Amino acid sequence: MTINLLDFNAKNLASFCGEIGEKPFRAKQLLRWIHQSGEEDFTGMSNLAKVLREKLSATAVVKPPQVISEHISADGTRKWLLDVGVGNGIETVFIPEPSRGTLCISSQVGCALECTFCSTGRQGFNRNLGVAEIIGQLWWANKVLGTAETEIALKPRHLVGESMVVQPLGQNHKVSNVVMMGMGEPLANFENVASALDLMLDDNAYGLSRRRVTVSTSGLIPAMDRLRERCPVALAVSLHAPNDKLRDQLVPINKKYPLKELLAACQRYLKAAPRDFITFEYIMLAGVNDSADQACELVKLVRETPCKFNLIPFNPFPNSGYERSSVEAINRFRDVLMQAGLVTTVRKTRGDDIYAACGQLAGRVLDKTQRKGREIMGTAR
Ligand code: SAH
Ligand code: SF4
Repeated sequence: MTINLLDFNAKNLASFCGEIGEKPFRAKQLLRWIHQSGEEDFTGMSNLAKVLREKLSATAVVKPPQVISEHISADGTRKWLLDVGVGNGIETVFIPEPSRGTLCISSQVGCALECTFCSTGRQGFNRNLGVAEIIGQLWWANKVLGTAETEIALKPRHLVGESMVVQPLGQNHKVSNVVMMGMGEPLANFENVASALDLMLDDNAYGLSRRRVTVSTSGLIPAMDRLRERCPVALAVSLHAPNDKLRDQLVPINKKYPLKELLAACQRYLKAAPRDFITFEYIMLAGVNDSADQACELVKLVRETPCKFNLIPFNPFPNSGYERSSVEAINRFRDVLMQAGLVTTVRKTRGDDIYAACGQLAGRVLDKTQRKGREIMGTAR
Protein backbone atom coordinates (compact mmCIF):
# COMPACT_ATOMS: atom_id res chain seq x y z
CA MET A 1 0.00 0.00 0.00
CA THR A 2 1.26 3.48 -0.82
CA ILE A 3 2.34 5.53 2.17
CA ASN A 4 0.28 8.65 2.78
CA LEU A 5 2.46 11.31 4.41
CA LEU A 6 -0.65 12.99 5.84
CA ASP A 7 -0.82 10.00 8.19
CA PHE A 8 2.42 10.98 9.96
CA ASN A 9 3.04 13.35 12.86
CA ALA A 10 6.56 14.84 13.16
CA LYS A 11 7.96 11.81 14.97
CA ASN A 12 6.62 9.29 12.47
CA LEU A 13 7.68 11.44 9.54
CA ALA A 14 11.23 11.58 10.94
CA SER A 15 11.26 7.76 11.20
CA PHE A 16 10.00 7.51 7.64
CA CYS A 17 12.81 9.83 6.49
CA GLY A 18 15.28 7.55 8.29
CA GLU A 19 13.81 4.51 6.52
CA ILE A 20 14.35 6.02 3.09
CA GLY A 21 17.91 7.02 3.98
CA GLU A 22 17.31 10.72 4.63
CA LYS A 23 18.27 12.90 7.60
CA PRO A 24 15.46 13.46 10.14
CA PHE A 25 15.49 17.25 9.54
CA ARG A 26 13.90 16.60 6.16
CA ALA A 27 10.77 15.83 8.15
CA LYS A 28 10.53 19.50 9.13
CA GLN A 29 10.75 20.65 5.54
CA LEU A 30 8.18 18.08 4.50
CA LEU A 31 5.80 19.08 7.29
CA ARG A 32 5.98 22.70 6.20
CA TRP A 33 5.35 21.89 2.58
CA ILE A 34 2.47 19.56 3.29
CA HIS A 35 0.67 21.38 6.07
CA GLN A 36 1.65 25.02 5.72
CA SER A 37 1.83 25.33 1.95
CA GLY A 38 -0.85 22.69 1.30
CA GLU A 39 1.42 21.09 -1.30
CA GLU A 40 0.32 17.68 -2.58
CA ASP A 41 2.85 17.30 -5.35
CA PHE A 42 6.45 16.43 -4.43
CA THR A 43 7.79 17.97 -7.61
CA GLY A 44 6.64 21.38 -6.32
CA MET A 45 8.72 21.11 -3.11
CA SER A 46 11.47 23.30 -4.45
CA ASN A 47 13.95 23.22 -1.57
CA LEU A 48 14.21 19.42 -1.62
CA ALA A 49 16.89 17.78 -3.74
CA LYS A 50 15.63 16.31 -7.01
CA VAL A 51 16.73 12.82 -5.97
CA LEU A 52 14.68 13.06 -2.81
CA ARG A 53 11.65 14.35 -4.67
CA GLU A 54 11.89 11.39 -7.01
CA LYS A 55 12.31 8.98 -4.13
CA LEU A 56 9.22 10.44 -2.46
CA SER A 57 7.16 10.27 -5.64
CA ALA A 58 8.08 6.58 -5.98
CA THR A 59 7.17 5.62 -2.40
CA ALA A 60 4.57 8.02 -1.02
CA VAL A 61 1.65 10.36 -1.64
CA VAL A 62 0.00 13.29 0.11
CA LYS A 63 -3.64 12.29 -0.08
CA PRO A 64 -6.37 14.16 1.80
CA PRO A 65 -9.98 12.96 1.66
CA GLN A 66 -11.79 14.40 -1.36
CA VAL A 67 -14.67 16.84 -1.02
CA ILE A 68 -18.05 15.57 -2.24
CA SER A 69 -20.08 18.67 -1.53
CA GLU A 70 -20.05 22.06 0.15
CA HIS A 71 -22.95 23.90 1.76
CA ILE A 72 -22.81 27.51 2.89
CA SER A 73 -25.31 28.70 5.50
CA ALA A 74 -26.98 32.11 5.50
CA ASP A 75 -24.88 32.91 8.61
CA GLY A 76 -21.58 32.13 6.84
CA THR A 77 -21.09 28.66 8.37
CA ARG A 78 -19.66 26.22 5.82
CA LYS A 79 -20.07 22.47 5.81
CA TRP A 80 -18.09 20.03 3.71
CA LEU A 81 -18.93 16.40 3.07
CA LEU A 82 -15.69 14.49 2.57
CA ASP A 83 -15.38 11.11 0.90
CA VAL A 84 -13.71 8.50 3.07
CA GLY A 85 -14.28 5.56 0.76
CA VAL A 86 -16.77 2.74 0.12
CA GLY A 87 -19.84 4.92 0.36
CA ASN A 88 -18.87 6.59 3.64
CA GLY A 89 -18.75 10.35 4.09
CA ILE A 90 -17.83 12.57 7.03
CA GLU A 91 -18.69 16.16 7.74
CA THR A 92 -16.53 19.11 8.72
CA VAL A 93 -17.93 22.49 9.69
CA PHE A 94 -16.28 25.92 9.66
CA ILE A 95 -17.84 28.58 11.86
CA PRO A 96 -16.61 32.12 11.23
CA GLU A 97 -17.00 34.69 14.00
CA PRO A 98 -15.67 38.22 14.31
CA SER A 99 -12.75 37.27 16.56
CA ARG A 100 -12.04 33.70 15.51
CA GLY A 101 -12.71 30.97 12.99
CA THR A 102 -13.56 27.58 14.46
CA LEU A 103 -13.27 24.30 12.61
CA CYS A 104 -15.38 21.43 13.91
CA ILE A 105 -13.66 18.16 13.01
CA SER A 106 -15.00 14.59 12.84
CA SER A 107 -13.10 11.66 14.32
CA GLN A 108 -15.14 8.61 13.32
CA VAL A 109 -17.54 7.47 10.61
CA GLY A 110 -20.64 7.52 12.82
CA CYS A 111 -20.43 6.80 16.52
CA ALA A 112 -20.98 3.66 18.56
CA LEU A 113 -22.06 5.38 21.76
CA GLU A 114 -25.77 5.80 21.06
CA CYS A 115 -26.54 9.03 22.92
CA THR A 116 -30.27 9.26 22.38
CA PHE A 117 -30.41 12.92 21.24
CA CYS A 118 -27.59 12.72 18.68
CA SER A 119 -28.05 12.29 14.96
CA THR A 120 -24.57 10.84 14.51
CA GLY A 121 -25.23 8.29 17.26
CA ARG A 122 -28.51 7.26 15.64
CA GLN A 123 -26.71 6.37 12.45
CA GLY A 124 -24.55 3.68 13.93
CA PHE A 125 -20.84 3.20 13.48
CA ASN A 126 -18.63 2.17 10.59
CA ARG A 127 -14.99 2.80 11.53
CA ASN A 128 -12.40 5.08 13.07
CA LEU A 129 -10.89 7.75 10.84
CA GLY A 130 -7.18 7.55 10.07
CA VAL A 131 -4.78 10.39 10.89
CA ALA A 132 -4.84 11.62 7.27
CA GLU A 133 -8.63 11.72 7.33
CA ILE A 134 -8.69 13.69 10.58
CA ILE A 135 -5.91 16.19 9.85
CA GLY A 136 -7.03 16.24 6.20
CA GLN A 137 -10.12 18.17 7.34
CA LEU A 138 -7.95 21.00 8.66
CA TRP A 139 -5.62 20.73 5.65
CA TRP A 140 -8.61 21.09 3.36
CA ALA A 141 -10.24 23.97 5.29
CA ASN A 142 -6.99 25.96 5.26
CA LYS A 143 -6.64 25.38 1.57
CA VAL A 144 -10.19 26.48 0.70
CA LEU A 145 -10.33 29.34 3.14
CA GLY A 146 -6.94 30.55 1.98
CA THR A 147 -8.12 30.79 -1.61
CA ALA A 148 -9.78 34.19 -1.33
CA GLU A 149 -6.60 35.70 0.00
CA THR A 150 -4.45 34.04 -2.60
CA GLU A 151 -6.62 35.50 -5.30
CA ILE A 152 -6.26 38.93 -3.76
CA ALA A 153 -2.51 38.47 -3.42
CA LEU A 154 -2.29 37.66 -7.11
CA LYS A 155 -4.00 40.88 -8.20
CA PRO A 156 -1.79 43.85 -9.09
CA ARG A 157 -1.04 45.82 -5.95
CA HIS A 158 -2.80 49.03 -6.96
CA LEU A 159 -6.04 47.09 -7.39
CA VAL A 160 -5.99 45.77 -3.85
CA GLY A 161 -7.99 48.38 -1.98
CA GLU A 162 -8.49 47.97 1.77
CA SER A 163 -12.11 47.10 1.14
CA MET A 164 -11.22 44.08 -0.99
CA VAL A 165 -9.41 42.40 1.86
CA VAL A 166 -12.33 42.79 4.26
CA GLN A 167 -13.63 39.39 5.27
CA PRO A 168 -17.21 38.42 4.41
CA LEU A 169 -19.73 39.73 6.94
CA GLY A 170 -16.84 41.04 9.05
CA GLN A 171 -16.10 37.48 10.15
CA ASN A 172 -12.78 35.78 10.60
CA HIS A 173 -12.37 33.37 7.72
CA LYS A 174 -9.22 31.57 8.83
CA VAL A 175 -9.06 28.60 11.16
CA SER A 176 -7.85 29.91 14.53
CA ASN A 177 -9.50 27.25 16.71
CA VAL A 178 -10.25 23.56 16.35
CA VAL A 179 -12.94 21.65 18.23
CA MET A 180 -13.20 17.87 18.01
CA MET A 181 -16.99 18.06 18.10
CA GLY A 182 -17.96 16.68 14.71
CA MET A 183 -19.04 13.12 14.05
CA GLY A 184 -17.78 10.52 16.47
CA GLU A 185 -16.26 10.18 19.91
CA PRO A 186 -12.65 11.37 19.57
CA LEU A 187 -11.39 9.50 22.61
CA ALA A 188 -12.69 6.22 21.19
CA ASN A 189 -10.15 6.69 18.38
CA PHE A 190 -7.32 7.64 20.67
CA GLU A 191 -4.07 7.05 18.79
CA ASN A 192 -5.18 8.59 15.51
CA VAL A 193 -6.75 11.59 17.21
CA ALA A 194 -3.62 12.11 19.34
CA SER A 195 -1.34 12.07 16.26
CA ALA A 196 -3.65 14.56 14.53
CA LEU A 197 -3.55 16.76 17.63
CA ASP A 198 0.28 16.60 17.53
CA LEU A 199 0.12 18.06 14.03
CA MET A 200 -2.35 20.78 15.01
CA LEU A 201 0.05 21.92 17.73
CA ASP A 202 3.30 21.47 15.76
CA ASP A 203 4.95 24.77 14.80
CA ASN A 204 6.06 23.23 11.51
CA ALA A 205 2.47 22.24 10.74
CA TYR A 206 -0.50 24.26 12.08
CA GLY A 207 1.07 25.82 15.21
CA LEU A 208 -2.16 26.16 17.20
CA SER A 209 -1.84 26.63 20.95
CA ARG A 210 -3.22 23.94 23.26
CA ARG A 211 -5.84 26.42 24.47
CA ARG A 212 -7.22 26.76 20.97
CA VAL A 213 -7.71 23.05 20.41
CA THR A 214 -10.58 21.39 22.27
CA VAL A 215 -11.44 17.71 22.54
CA SER A 216 -15.06 17.02 23.43
CA THR A 217 -15.85 13.70 25.06
CA SER A 218 -18.90 11.94 26.37
CA GLY A 219 -16.68 10.82 29.23
CA LEU A 220 -14.38 7.91 28.40
CA ILE A 221 -12.43 8.06 31.64
CA PRO A 222 -9.34 5.92 30.86
CA ALA A 223 -8.83 7.82 27.60
CA MET A 224 -9.20 11.17 29.40
CA ASP A 225 -6.31 10.09 31.61
CA ARG A 226 -4.28 9.09 28.57
CA LEU A 227 -4.95 12.39 26.87
CA ARG A 228 -3.75 14.22 29.97
CA GLU A 229 -0.43 12.38 29.74
CA ARG A 230 -0.04 12.42 25.99
CA CYS A 231 -1.40 15.71 24.67
CA PRO A 232 -3.37 17.81 27.17
CA VAL A 233 -5.42 20.17 25.02
CA ALA A 234 -8.52 21.97 26.30
CA LEU A 235 -11.26 19.55 27.36
CA ALA A 236 -15.02 19.73 27.03
CA VAL A 237 -17.13 17.05 28.70
CA SER A 238 -20.67 16.31 27.59
CA LEU A 239 -22.54 16.17 30.90
CA HIS A 240 -26.20 16.65 29.87
CA ALA A 241 -27.75 15.44 33.14
CA PRO A 242 -27.43 16.24 36.85
CA ASN A 243 -27.67 12.63 38.08
CA ASP A 244 -26.77 9.11 37.02
CA LYS A 245 -30.37 8.01 36.59
CA LEU A 246 -31.03 10.51 33.81
CA ARG A 247 -27.53 10.39 32.36
CA ASP A 248 -27.74 6.60 32.06
CA GLN A 249 -30.67 7.17 29.69
CA LEU A 250 -29.29 10.05 27.64
CA VAL A 251 -25.61 9.08 27.49
CA PRO A 252 -25.54 5.29 27.89
CA ILE A 253 -21.74 5.17 28.38
CA ASN A 254 -22.56 6.66 31.82
CA LYS A 255 -23.44 3.15 33.00
CA LYS A 256 -19.79 2.25 32.54
CA TYR A 257 -18.30 5.58 33.65
CA PRO A 258 -20.71 7.19 36.13
CA LEU A 259 -20.73 10.83 37.20
CA LYS A 260 -18.73 10.60 40.42
CA GLU A 261 -15.85 8.91 38.63
CA LEU A 262 -16.18 11.24 35.66
CA LEU A 263 -15.85 14.32 37.86
CA ALA A 264 -12.81 12.81 39.59
CA ALA A 265 -11.26 12.30 36.12
CA CYS A 266 -11.97 15.96 35.32
CA GLN A 267 -10.11 16.98 38.49
CA ARG A 268 -7.13 14.88 37.43
CA TYR A 269 -7.23 16.35 33.92
CA LEU A 270 -7.10 19.88 35.28
CA LYS A 271 -3.61 19.25 36.63
CA ALA A 272 -2.27 19.22 33.06
CA ALA A 273 -4.93 21.21 31.18
CA PRO A 274 -4.03 24.43 29.34
CA ARG A 275 -7.01 26.16 30.97
CA ASP A 276 -7.91 26.10 34.64
CA PHE A 277 -11.44 24.88 34.05
CA ILE A 278 -13.28 22.08 32.27
CA THR A 279 -16.06 23.09 29.89
CA PHE A 280 -19.24 21.16 30.59
CA GLU A 281 -21.60 20.86 27.66
CA TYR A 282 -25.24 20.52 28.58
CA ILE A 283 -27.86 19.96 25.93
CA MET A 284 -31.22 21.62 26.59
CA LEU A 285 -34.05 19.13 26.01
CA ALA A 286 -37.57 20.36 26.72
CA GLY A 287 -39.10 18.67 29.75
CA VAL A 288 -36.21 16.21 30.07
CA ASN A 289 -33.24 17.93 31.73
CA ASP A 290 -34.12 21.64 31.77
CA SER A 291 -36.00 22.36 35.02
CA ALA A 292 -34.83 24.78 37.72
CA ASP A 293 -34.63 21.87 40.17
CA GLN A 294 -32.30 20.02 37.82
CA ALA A 295 -30.16 23.15 37.54
CA CYS A 296 -29.88 23.23 41.37
CA GLU A 297 -28.95 19.55 41.40
CA LEU A 298 -26.30 20.26 38.78
CA VAL A 299 -24.82 23.07 40.87
CA LYS A 300 -24.39 20.64 43.77
CA LEU A 301 -22.92 17.98 41.51
CA VAL A 302 -20.08 20.14 40.19
CA ARG A 303 -19.40 22.04 43.42
CA GLU A 304 -15.86 20.74 43.69
CA THR A 305 -14.92 21.00 40.00
CA PRO A 306 -13.58 24.24 38.43
CA CYS A 307 -15.76 24.50 35.34
CA LYS A 308 -17.70 26.60 32.90
CA PHE A 309 -21.03 25.63 31.37
CA ASN A 310 -21.99 25.74 27.76
CA LEU A 311 -25.72 25.18 27.34
CA ILE A 312 -26.53 23.77 23.90
CA PRO A 313 -30.10 24.23 22.68
CA PHE A 314 -31.09 20.87 21.20
CA ASN A 315 -30.81 20.85 17.42
CA PRO A 316 -33.62 18.81 15.96
CA PHE A 317 -33.34 16.11 13.30
CA PRO A 318 -36.01 13.87 11.80
CA ASN A 319 -37.65 11.44 14.25
CA SER A 320 -35.46 12.49 17.16
CA GLY A 321 -38.30 12.30 19.66
CA TYR A 322 -36.98 15.38 21.49
CA GLU A 323 -37.78 19.08 21.46
CA ARG A 324 -35.60 22.07 22.14
CA SER A 325 -36.16 23.81 25.49
CA SER A 326 -37.92 27.15 25.30
CA VAL A 327 -35.88 30.33 25.53
CA GLU A 328 -37.47 30.94 28.95
CA ALA A 329 -36.44 27.51 30.22
CA ILE A 330 -32.89 27.97 28.94
CA ASN A 331 -32.61 31.41 30.55
CA ARG A 332 -34.03 30.16 33.84
CA PHE A 333 -31.56 27.25 33.85
CA ARG A 334 -28.68 29.58 33.01
CA ASP A 335 -29.68 32.01 35.78
CA VAL A 336 -29.62 29.28 38.43
CA LEU A 337 -26.08 28.30 37.38
CA MET A 338 -24.91 31.91 37.20
CA GLN A 339 -26.35 32.76 40.60
CA ALA A 340 -24.31 29.89 42.00
CA GLY A 341 -21.22 31.53 40.52
CA LEU A 342 -20.80 29.24 37.50
CA VAL A 343 -19.81 30.99 34.28
CA THR A 344 -22.46 29.90 31.78
CA THR A 345 -22.90 30.62 28.11
CA VAL A 346 -25.66 29.55 25.76
CA ARG A 347 -24.25 28.23 22.52
CA LYS A 348 -25.43 30.14 19.50
CA THR A 349 -26.98 27.86 16.94
CA ARG A 350 -24.97 28.16 13.76
CA GLY A 351 -25.56 26.62 10.39
CA ASP A 352 -28.80 24.81 11.23
CA ASP A 353 -30.26 25.74 7.83
CA ILE A 354 -27.67 23.41 6.27
CA TYR A 355 -27.84 20.77 9.05
CA ALA A 356 -24.41 21.80 10.29
CA ALA A 357 -25.32 22.57 13.91
CA CYS A 358 -24.12 20.46 16.88
CA GLY A 359 -25.46 16.96 16.76
CA GLN A 360 -26.95 17.34 13.29
CA LEU A 361 -23.98 15.92 11.42
CA ALA A 362 -24.96 12.75 9.70
CA GLY A 363 -22.52 12.35 6.82
CA ARG A 364 -22.87 9.01 5.13
CA VAL A 365 -22.49 6.08 7.43
CA LEU A 366 -22.74 2.51 6.33
CA ASP A 367 -23.63 1.11 9.71
CA LYS A 368 -21.85 -2.02 10.83
CA THR A 369 -23.45 -2.39 14.23
CA GLN A 370 -26.74 -3.77 12.89
CA ARG A 371 -28.72 -2.09 15.63
CA LYS A 372 -32.43 -2.69 15.25
CA GLY A 373 -34.97 0.00 14.48
CA ARG A 374 -32.56 2.74 13.52
CA GLU A 375 -33.73 5.46 11.19
CA ILE A 376 -31.85 5.62 7.94
CA MET A 377 -31.12 9.25 7.37
CA GLY A 378 -28.57 11.79 6.33
CA THR A 379 -27.80 10.61 2.84
CA ALA A 380 -30.71 12.55 1.34
CA ARG A 381 -29.32 15.94 2.35
N1 SAH B 1 -18.66 12.61 20.90
C1 SAH B 1 -18.27 13.82 21.49
C2 SAH B 1 -18.08 14.94 20.52
C3 SAH B 1 -19.05 15.09 19.38
S1 SAH B 1 -20.65 15.70 19.77
C4 SAH B 1 -19.21 14.22 22.59
O1 SAH B 1 -20.27 13.61 22.71
O2 SAH B 1 -18.87 15.10 23.37
C5 SAH B 1 -20.38 17.41 20.17
C6 SAH B 1 -21.44 17.97 21.11
O3 SAH B 1 -22.73 18.07 20.46
C7 SAH B 1 -21.64 17.10 22.35
O4 SAH B 1 -21.74 17.88 23.51
C8 SAH B 1 -22.96 16.46 22.03
O5 SAH B 1 -23.60 15.99 23.17
C9 SAH B 1 -23.70 17.57 21.35
N2 SAH B 1 -24.89 17.12 20.62
C10 SAH B 1 -25.15 15.90 20.12
N3 SAH B 1 -26.36 15.89 19.51
C11 SAH B 1 -26.87 17.12 19.63
C12 SAH B 1 -28.08 17.74 19.18
N4 SAH B 1 -28.98 17.07 18.48
N5 SAH B 1 -28.26 19.04 19.47
C13 SAH B 1 -27.33 19.74 20.15
N6 SAH B 1 -26.16 19.22 20.57
C14 SAH B 1 -25.94 17.92 20.33
FE1 SF4 C 1 -21.28 9.85 19.90
FE2 SF4 C 1 -20.96 12.32 20.95
FE3 SF4 C 1 -23.12 11.70 19.47
FE4 SF4 C 1 -22.84 10.64 21.90
S1 SF4 C 1 -23.09 12.82 21.40
S2 SF4 C 1 -23.49 9.52 20.05
S3 SF4 C 1 -20.63 10.33 21.99
S4 SF4 C 1 -21.02 11.76 18.75
